[in-house]
Amino acid sequence: MTTHSSAPHNPPSPRPAPPLWLLAELTYRCPLHCAFCYNPVDFARHSRELETEQWVRVLREARALGAVQCGFSGGEPLLREDLEVLVSEARGLGYYTNLITSGVGLNEARAQRLKAAGLDHIQLSFQDSTREVNDLLTNTHTWQLKHRVAALIKQHGWPMVVNVVIHRLNIDHIGRIIEMAHELGAEYLELANTQYYSWAHVNRDQWLPTRAQLQEAEAETDRWRSTLGDKMRIFFVSPDYHEAKPKKCMNGWGNVFLTIAPDGVALPCHTARMLPGLAFENVLDRSIEQIWYESAGFNRYRGTGWMKEPCSSCPDKEKDLGGCRCQAYLLAQDAEAADPVCPKSPHHGLVQAALEQVETRALQPQASGCSALGQNQPHGTAQIHAGLIYRGPKESLALTSAPASTAPP
Ligand code: SF4
Ligand code: SF4
Repeated sequence: MTTHSSAPHNPPSPRPAPPLWLLAELTYRCPLHCAFCYNPVDFARHSRELETEQWVRVLREARALGAVQCGFSGGEPLLREDLEVLVSEARGLGYYTNLITSGVGLNEARAQRLKAAGLDHIQLSFQDSTREVNDLLTNTHTWQLKHRVAALIKQHGWPMVVNVVIHRLNIDHIGRIIEMAHELGAEYLELANTQYYSWAHVNRDQWLPTRAQLQEAEAETDRWRSTLGDKMRIFFVSPDYHEAKPKKCMNGWGNVFLTIAPDGVALPCHTARMLPGLAFENVLDRSIEQIWYESAGFNRYRGTGWMKEPCSSCPDKEKDLGGCRCQAYLLAQDAEAADPVCPKSPHHGLVQAALEQVETRALQPQASGCSALGQNQPHGTAQIHAGLIYRGPKESLALTSAPASTAPP
């Protein structure tokens, strides 16, 4: 269990539906250092990992509860030598299995073993269509390796999703990114605009695109959709700052998704452990069924009963369930507030101010795109290159030991 105290809660009525998706975050270790990594900023403070038998129990309990999809994620899940054992177990239980990987560690021998284990699907991340930006954003030299891994995935006949996090530094390359994914043989391409949590929130001002960039990227994506038809499906996830309407985060808190962190903490979404005042329980202490239905952490924001104004009287409250709790906490320092992306939120000005700042900076030619990177900013002892704070264990410890007034959440 986390060290947070347990918030008061009432078990919801009627009983929630079971989870459909299990996300098994096998490890927070990763050879890459993405400056927008979705792992918690304090990940280095949670270095314990469940053992193989404990993960097997997680897979069995979640399947018995009703989960049908299982994603193996991280960090980099290929760093776990028991990945094949876990995939085989999941497949035997009847899950549809997906490996979510940076590609580092997937070689011919490993691919053969994962195929034999029954792995159904692979999602491979790229950071850009250019070596320069790919390697800048990960602080590694992995661009060529990712191309080799994509070829390996196709040689073994897996359906492949190419996932690219989109932001100001690569959004102008979107046509070439789509072309690259098609050339690699991807069946699906996910162009996911950065969501500003975790490491992406630390570096947020580097990521926000201008409205003009976003409109052009959407138009370019539509042109490619017309050209490619069914040959490759393209998902374009808009940044909610620009959408000006909150998203129904995780399709509802504790509604569909169950995430198990590397140390066994069960979460309604992979960023939720940053929220203060919540008790997220560990699968080592209680069964997944008990955690899903009875725990304070999972019941806290289910449904609409927890809402306050303006959400509680809003006609749209069932549509978006008040938006994202993590975004409310990060921007308004209040996890029960309306998501500040919503124009009705009293904190909406924070989102508008961030967007206006981007437009203002865009008017200064020397401050746009990659050329904007170059000013190192002191921030504890975190490793900073080109104005970006990179994800890494040292950086994690440095950022989360800074005084509370300056540490990013
Ligand atoms: S976002 Fe990058 S650093 Fe984070 S887990 Fe994925 S590959 Fe590793
Ligand atoms: S006030 Fe709350 S429920 Fe209504 S649209 Fe905004 S975030 Fe959604």
